[in-house]
Amino acid sequence: MCVVDKSAFVCTLNPTCHELLCELPLCFDNYFQTLFDIVISASAQQGEVESGTRRKIKRLLSFQRYCHASRLLRGLVPHTPGSLHLLDDDYLGQAAHMLSKVGTWNFDIFLFDRLTNGNSLVTLMCHLFNVYGLIHHFQLDMVKLHRFLGMVQEDYHSQNPYHNAVHAADVTQAMYCYLKEPKLAEQLSPLDVFLGLMAAAAHDVDHPGVNQPFLIKTRHHLASLYQNTSVLESHHWRSTVGMLRESGLLSHLPADMSQDMEQQLGSLILATDISRQNEFLLTFREHLDNQDLDLQLASHRHFILQIALKCADVCNPCRVWELSRQWSERVCEEFYRQGDLERKFDLEISPLCNQQADSVPSIQIGFISYIVEPLFEEWHRFTEPSLLSQTMMGHLHKNKARWSRLRYAHTPSDTQTHSHK
Ligand SMILES: [Zn+2]
Repeated sequence: MCVVDKSAFVCTLNPTCHELLCELPLCFDNYFQTLFDIVISASAQQGEVESGTRRKIKRLLSFQRYCHASRLLRGLVPHTPGSLHLLDDDYLGQAAHMLSKVGTWNFDIFLFDRLTNGNSLVTLMCHLFNVYGLIHHFQLDMVKLHRFLGMVQEDYHSQNPYHNAVHAADVTQAMYCYLKEPKLAEQLSPLDVFLGLMAAAAHDVDHPGVNQPFLIKTRHHLASLYQNTSVLESHHWRSTVGMLRESGLLSHLPADMSQDMEQQLGSLILATDISRQNEFLLTFREHLDNQDLDLQLASHRHFILQIALKCADVCNPCRVWELSRQWSERVCEEFYRQGDLERKFDLEISPLCNQQADSVPSIQIGFISYIVEPLFEEWHRFTEPSLLSQTMMGHLHKNKARWSRLRYAHTPSDTQTHSHK
């Protein structure tokens, strides 16, 4: 538990948060605002307010900053990816070799992340921007690009088993594979590619590791800010816009152009809200039935980018079993952690979050049947079908059958690979 005197940081929003301060991202904004005020006023007295300090502390006002500080308060050593040791040439050589095959579907993002010392997202994005010539096309400043990508990567929570920067890198790699689809590749403009990759990289930034219902029932301020609708997705988008502006990456472009890019990024990221799945699926199906998709139209290309990002976001069951299984275990671990928190604080345990009742195989079978299969069947149709689509559908069916066998082969307790702490 927290070692500081918490009475100084009582949240005015929720009467229970005084007890939850150490465990939940519930009232950290108030907490850090207080901390911010204290530090700034103390510095001001000493005449030492530096803009750098102010900016640094201001950036503490995110889920990620909360968690870092929370670890500090508990006396644990914070870990900053990439800062601990330098990679030797062998690792860099292997990472470079992997990048030469970045468009293959069995790309092992976990290995790539280890080889890049936790910098998979930045490394991958820089590589893909080079591949597509986006830096030259949009006259991007390399220093600003690195600054922006570094901020995005850093704002993912490395302690989340699933929603971390490796998931973002995985989705980006999948998005790249979809952008290369023969049906699509020729039609895409540099702006489409830029937005597709940027949205994939940032689509879950600053994810707290709990879902929207959890934020609503704990009366998190983001839930009221976004009126209980697409709360997380709105936060991911607005955080991305904040980092774009802070880094100045698009500041050299005409204002209407950069504003349009921000809006389109929002539309793409908001499409990943799984509760809007049916809305997108029905429209997609209708277009395919009517054969009226015209990829010469920017609006139709944007819709396909939304669908592609949605596919990339939930493509784990379409990967080869060894990679797919790791993602499945990670996402369930994150669900179970939320369930543990809910149990601990006498909140109702959310669906899929009860480790005693929801096994990994049963969660995966439900996820594949209701979310992944219906979406990828239409994507398969759209690509007419491509070699990649056939490969993905093959993995999807095999993986589903494997989870079915595991479901009946073990009791729920046998399938638990993660123990409660
Ligand atoms: Zn995601």
